[in-house]
Amino acid sequence: MATILLQNQPFEYQINRKGIRSIRLRLISKKSFQISCPHLTPEFLIQKFIKNNSDWIINHSSKISHKKSILGLKTIKILDNSYEIQWIKTQRDSVIIEEVEQKIYSNISLFSESHAKKVLEAKLRPFALKLIKKELANLSKNFNFKYGKVTVRNQSSRYGSCSGHGNLSFNWQIIFFPYPQFQHILLHELTHLDIKNHSSKFWGQLTIYDSKCKFHNLWLKKEGTKCFLF
Ligand SMILES: [Zn+2]
Repeated sequence: MATILLQNQPFEYQINRKGIRSIRLRLISKKSFQISCPHLTPEFLIQKFIKNNSDWIINHSSKISHKKSILGLKTIKILDNSYEIQWIKTQRDSVIIEEVEQKIYSNISLFSESHAKKVLEAKLRPFALKLIKKELANLSKNFNFKYGKVTVRNQSSRYGSCSGHGNLSFNWQIIFFPYPQFQHILLHELTHLDIKNHSSKFWGQLTIYDSKCKFHNLWLKKEGTKCFLF
């Protein structure tokens, strides 16, 4: 890793020389990127390439600022529980979530960010659905809700939705929120079973279920998507 200042901001970068024909740049995190270039590229050309692309780096790195490197994760917070994650190189992909031990064993055949994401997401998505269904059942016991089918999606613009037929859908990544905020999202959609719009009646009813409704709603608007890992 080397460090370079771009518009007074320090960035770390790695140079990966390989059998390609031109220089490429890939952002890794908000403060680091990787350069891939042909084997014999002189250092000054790499520096020039980085300087020429500094606007692009700064612009795009700020946008991905909340995305963390998956392979760099040591723990994942799921509903206030900190799961220790271990990355293990194996021949076959498999992920084991130990709920009691709060450990995630990620066995992956390829150590790349995109592959790790794909394998981990395939396991975490159904796990999220399980947690959401469990909490919905709890809330329904307390407040007597009657809902239809429950599904999970990955749509960063919305946390949840409630159809006219009472089917509920949630962004699976809401399991990375603190527990009260997670619960707030479920209660929001459950309230829509009776009141479809966002009228004052709706907010009044939601506040009966969640006394900190205003605080949670504001938190979700400001902090919500920062918790998303994928
Ligand atoms: Zn709504």
